Amino acid sequence: MSQQNFDYDVSIIGGGPGGSTAGYLLSKLGLNVQIIDKDIFPRQKLCGGIITFKTLDLLNRLYKETTDTLLDKNIINYHTNRFEINYKVKRIMSINISKFPFYLVDRRVYDNFLLNKAKEASVDVIEGDEVIKVNLETCEINLSKGDKFKTKLIIGADGANSIVKQEFIRNGIIRKDKWNYNLATGLECFIDRNNLEKGLFKYPIISFGFLRYGYNWLFPNKNQVIVGVGGLNRKNKGLFKRTLNRFITALKINPDVVSRVSGHPIPYGNFHITPIYKNNIILIGDAAGIADPFWGEGIYYTQKTAEYASLAILKNLKNLKNSTILYLRLLSKYIYSELRYAMKLRWFIFNPINSFFSYYPTHLMLKLMRNKLIEITHGIRSYRWGMKKFFKLGTYLQ
Ligand SMILES: Cc1cc2nc3c(=O)[nH]c(=O)nc-3n(C[C@H](O)[C@H](O)[C@H](O)COP(=O)(O)OP(=O)(O)OC[C@H]3O[C@@H](n4cnc5c(N)ncnc54)[C@H](O)[C@@H]3O)c2cc1C
Repeated sequence: MSQQNFDYDVSIIGGGPGGSTAGYLLSKLGLNVQIIDKDIFPRQKLCGGIITFKTLDLLNRLYKETTDTLLDKNIINYHTNRFEINYKVKRIMSINISKFPFYLVDRRVYDNFLLNKAKEASVDVIEGDEVIKVNLETCEINLSKGDKFKTKLIIGADGANSIVKQEFIRNGIIRKDKWNYNLATGLECFIDRNNLEKGLFKYPIISFGFLRYGYNWLFPNKNQVIVGVGGLNRKNKGLFKRTLNRFITALKINPDVVSRVSGHPIPYGNFHITPIYKNNIILIGDAAGIADPFWGEGIYYTQKTAEYASLAILKNLKNLKNSTILYLRLLSKYIYSELRYAMKLRWFIFNPINSFFSYYPTHLMLKLMRNKLIEITHGIRSYRWGMKKFFKLGTYLQ
């Protein structure tokens, strides 16, 4: 393979946070890297835009960006240390001063910022051209405008509807029914702050109980408010739009000021059944099915899997094929193990919601966890730590 001519060492399909992070790191390591994205940046990506402490830590380690520099550059668009958790319209928890503030980004700005970092690190970026074919055997890529590239290694960072993943399905590497089993849907709409009374919706509101294995959210931004719903498809057939409308009504928002509703799939627990590589092709982030199966958080996981993929490549520069195996080992040890605990927490929180007693067990569980829920899911503590401590209830009664 080393005697062949290659256009690039690594071609990355998708310039979202995962693709940009991998491109930035690999180019810094001295590899010849390209990123191809079908959209022209800045582009919109449906998302609540919450970034957690673990993401901020990653941005600090990899890019030397601190919360303060991100605020100065307006990459973090909004932050608050208040939040509210409801069961439908009943308030369960209202935290005025959370030790762990919520930070929000506009994905147009955040993704563009990361892609620019990759460009500054000398990655060749093609925007506005879609990858229409990927050859899993020869590592060749065909683009919609006629270009073709041959590369030593491909990273599929092309999101939940990944063409690379679809190629894996066509070749029988991933089973479609298994992939779909833990797939969720997210719907969102926006309200311009000019159409809201001043002082309204200044902090995140989470509502459980409107749907099963999922939740509704209201996330504030500087200029707008994002209202959404996300949940497991197989538990909520036909419920999403109706549930979103019920949530909007519960919040007493005038439906006339709400934007059109858009939807997008979210990997919601399908990480462990999804093979994430074949030959010299690696999947990261949403394309690999890796997002938090409790909150649906994916920005951190796509950037973290990009970091692991880059590390695995760095350790195997002479034989890139071996990097795929190391990548899987890193994921199994540090990501899958953690996400399995997140699956358990999901069962504990969402199962009582669906039971006969609905409100009360959920209320009790969340009251017991109080700030710990945010501490665990923001990444100050791990899910594993949280689940172990959960049974020592004293920890939660502080
Ligand atoms: C409604 C909703 C709300 C969410 N809220 C949050 C949140 O608050 N916090 C959080 O952490 N996560 C959230 N997520 C999840 C998060 O958006 C994803 O996990 C994250 O965007 C995954 O990043 P990625 O880089 O893997 O893929 P993406 O961000 O999807 O990027 C993929 C890129 O690939 C490009 N692409 C796709 N196909 C091709 C092709 N054939 N050729 C070339 N380019 C291609 C796309 O244009 C895109 O730019 C939310 C998701 C949804 C749906």
